[in-house]
Amino acid sequence: MASLQQHGRPVEDVINDLTAKRVNDVKWADGRTFGMVYDGGPSVHDVAEQAARVYLHENALNTKAFPSLGQIQSEVVSWTAGLLHGDDDVAGFLTSGGTESILCGVLAARERGRIERGITEPEMVVAESAHAAFHKAAHTFGITLHKTPVLDDWTADVEAMAAVCGPNTVLVVGSAPQYPQGVQDDIPAIAALAASIGANCHVDACMGGFVLPFAEMLGREVKPWDFRVEGVTTISADIHKLGYAPKGVSVILHRTRESRAYQTFVFDDWLGGFYASPNLQGTRSGLPMACAWAVMSHLGIDGYVELTRTTLANADTFRSGVAAIEGIRVLGDGRFHLVAMAADPSFEPEIDMFALGDALIAKGWFHDRQGPPDNLHSTISNTNAGVIETYLGDLADCVATVVGTHTDDRRTNYATLE
Ligand SMILES: *Cc1c(COP(=O)(O)O)cnc(C)c1O
Repeated sequence: MASLQQHGRPVEDVINDLTAKRVNDVKWADGRTFGMVYDGGPSVHDVAEQAARVYLHENALNTKAFPSLGQIQSEVVSWTAGLLHGDDDVAGFLTSGGTESILCGVLAARERGRIERGITEPEMVVAESAHAAFHKAAHTFGITLHKTPVLDDWTADVEAMAAVCGPNTVLVVGSAPQYPQGVQDDIPAIAALAASIGANCHVDACMGGFVLPFAEMLGREVKPWDFRVEGVTTISADIHKLGYAPKGVSVILHRTRESRAYQTFVFDDWLGGFYASPNLQGTRSGLPMACAWAVMSHLGIDGYVELTRTTLANADTFRSGVAAIEGIRVLGDGRFHLVAMAADPSFEPEIDMFALGDALIAKGWFHDRQGPPDNLHSTISNTNAGVIETYLGDLADCVATVVGTHTDDRRTNYATLE
């Protein structure tokens, strides 16, 4: 067991050690990581780093003490609501990330069901493609979750969802797009289903929230998914993904202020005084909020459109490159920035995708692993600009190398829990 040393050490030594610790981390700055870090370029780093210095110590728990953070939150929420075609009634909060936004959306649905419909044994319906955070939310808030299959195109099977809806259903979920294959669910059908039974419809746009609006501006076909779709009650959108802000910030939006009130907590019977919190946190860093404000202000709509143009061009090149390599294929017909790469079952012997993942890591390329079927996931962003051709060359080499080999390591999640 390590113990903290008795005497403190000089700033420079401490920072040198921290820097040295990163030696085995993925080299995201080289563009060789398909996910986890989203790199908006040098000026985006600069504005975020400077904003972080200014707001490093501020606490958004109390916006009476820090009115600047109340203002920052309301501006970022309202900018995001505007991008998602919300009207003046749309209200929301900043959270620490997609998971917290989803937890808040699920909690609000449960509370609405309890207060407006008297539901004491709440249920929710999600497709098997919906993010694991919905399962975490059901687990945390005591909600029975019905998981339904996806269709052959990997989108949610809305008929299967309808079949498990009942009088206790408080929430039906759609994703725009879903994470695993990057395809977009039929949001109008899911929202209509939710509305028909008086339940909430949450659209998970954690990935798409800062891509789809700009894809549409670029003239790409984007099927309806945002507040223009009747029946959509809440939307989650992560600024710390393709919004290009550093980690720790996402937006949860509600169609109305009344809906938003179902996620907040107010307590006025404590020796510590009146206590209110908008999301799941108590003490709340101002840093990610300020960074989000800074990055969004710096980029503006034009900046995001340009980053999205690069991202989608890279993703298109990536998909056609994979399709051209014998032995592997892309799952589904995703049109945005997420790509799932799997073995082509008609190719003998079938490629072991996780062995391929290992071979790619040996060349410095990092993908998340998922399944079934075993596949390598890529979130393409501006981070990977300029490296896709090199990547595709290495990918073809790696496929050739791993033909006929196998790995026993089936782990797809590398979080440390021990
Ligand atoms: C990333 C993601 C989440 C979860 O967000 P975190 O920021 O990792 O907590 C939820 N849904 C989708 C579609 C995502 O891509």
